[in-house]
Amino acid sequence: MSHCIINANAKVVGLCSYAATAIEIVSLLMVREIGIIQLPCPEMTVYGLKRWGHVREQFNYPYYREKCRQIVKPIIDQLIDYLNNGYKLTGIIGVDGSPSCGVHQTCSGAWGGELTADSGIVDKLSQVKLVNKQGIFMEEIIELLKMANLDIPLAAIDELDVKGSVKNIEQLI
Ligand code: SF4
Repeated sequence: MSHCIINANAKVVGLCSYAATAIEIVSLLMVREIGIIQLPCPEMTVYGLKRWGHVREQFNYPYYREKCRQIVKPIIDQLIDYLNNGYKLTGIIGVDGSPSCGVHQTCSGAWGGELTADSGIVDKLSQVKLVNKQGIFMEEIIELLKMANLDIPLAAIDELDVKGSVKNIEQLI
């Protein structure tokens, strides 16, 4: 499960908004007797809490991808061990819209440059949109899963439709 679903404090400062989401999802998984592994938060690892909101394009560079692989590799190793010992790997839950953890949708735009009045910032902001792609961290996770021959279904929280997301996750499990 993406880190911020059960620790929303890892989100950009000021965006810690979905405690209720955690309660709904965690209780659903607990009732079904499904354990939870909390993934690391790549954005907090690399950029800390005072980062700006980003778009996918800003994270699409070799060092960020390498860092994503590095922090998630120990989890992939755990998954292999669980599987080898007869456990069922139920699914991975990401966060739609995130440039890192998006599963079905991610945030995209020609974002970057200086934050000044004459830098065209309003225009850049107006071009930021959701696109049907995965976030960079999720892409790297999927690649590592493939390399380890692990076939695990993916689901996501959509903060704009928490109830719908929980329903989708319920179907997955
Ligand atoms: S990078 Fe992933 S875990 Fe971190 S705040 Fe964004 S969606 Fe949550």
